[in-house]
Amino acid sequence: MTAPVRCVLLSSTLDLAGLFGPVLAGIADAVEAVPHPAPEPETVRLALAWFPPADAFARYPDLRAVCSIAAGVDSLLACPGLPAGVPVVRVVDPEQALAMSCFVLWHVLGHLRRFRTYAENQARALWRPLGQRAAGEVTVGLLGYGRMGARVAADLAALGFPVLAWSRSPRAPEAGVDLLSGESGLADLLPRTDVLVNLLPLTPQTRGILNAGLFARLKPGATLVQVGRGDHLVEGDLLAALDGGRLAGAALDVFATEPLPPAHPFWRHPKIVVTPHEACDASPQAVAAMLCATAQAISAGLPVPNAVDVARGY
Ligand code: NDP
Repeated sequence: MTAPVRCVLLSSTLDLAGLFGPVLAGIADAVEAVPHPAPEPETVRLALAWFPPADAFARYPDLRAVCSIAAGVDSLLACPGLPAGVPVVRVVDPEQALAMSCFVLWHVLGHLRRFRTYAENQARALWRPLGQRAAGEVTVGLLGYGRMGARVAADLAALGFPVLAWSRSPRAPEAGVDLLSGESGLADLLPRTDVLVNLLPLTPQTRGILNAGLFARLKPGATLVQVGRGDHLVEGDLLAALDGGRLAGAALDVFATEPLPPAHPFWRHPKIVVTPHEACDASPQAVAAMLCATAQAISAGLPVPNAVDVARGY
């Protein structure tokens, strides 16, 4: 039996031992989790990280992989101390993609069936049928067609929504989904979109992509579902687009500053729904499974699974 792989827990914002303690105990024969600063740092091969402290990695000279606790790795790649050449691994979990799909469906169906207006009418005891629309009348544009986007697209298409999806690289067509890529693909998608769902990773190319220029190209009266990362959005541009009537509403799950400060105008805006970055967390079990698979590959001298392309940023 191989010795457990030593894994240091690195976060400046979360208590990883508290969050993942029970599942880490369950995989102790494969992964030995140790707090930072770990004794005998030269024996540490693995790090589990989320917003790691900038200087933490310098202590561990023989790391073989750094694992995110999430599907996104932007908080790791942004760390100036991240050692070059060490694979960065993300959580890939179909259950998480399903949870994301449920979250997006909640907002798309709410838009289709005008949930917000019914809630306002109920508060006024107002019996006013608003008329029904078919799913086929609401086109959903997805920015990002990766693990999350593909699941969301398939579920929306199965319900009858026309789906346009945008990725970096061109793809073969899939049932019920119109796949677009590049600048021309975005130019095609935006004016046809009633509900825009952001499922992009945060990279230098996608930072600030949700801005006034993009909103101006959407179908007038479109709605935004923002589940990527807070820094995709230029917040002032969203408020202007909502207040000017260009956009009808926005559901925001991620923010430039989290937790969203109590005085932030998003909280009380009548056209905005705020949720606290929990469209779909990676489950502790999925994090444990990722650590075990990574540790197994390290012990066998094999490439670690689900490593991102660090140069590409996702
Ligand atoms: P993937 O890496 O599987 O997919 C990313 C998709 O974005 C791919 O289709 C990729 O294109 C596309 N993309 C990347 N850069 C560009 C670009 N410059 N132009 C056009 N398309 C681009 O990621 P996931 O689907 O797993 O997750 C996506 C993001 O969702 C995460 O990075 C995270 O930010 C967010 N997320 C949010 C959660 C929440 O709770 N709010 C939970 C989980 C994830 P290509 O296919 O060509 O590579």
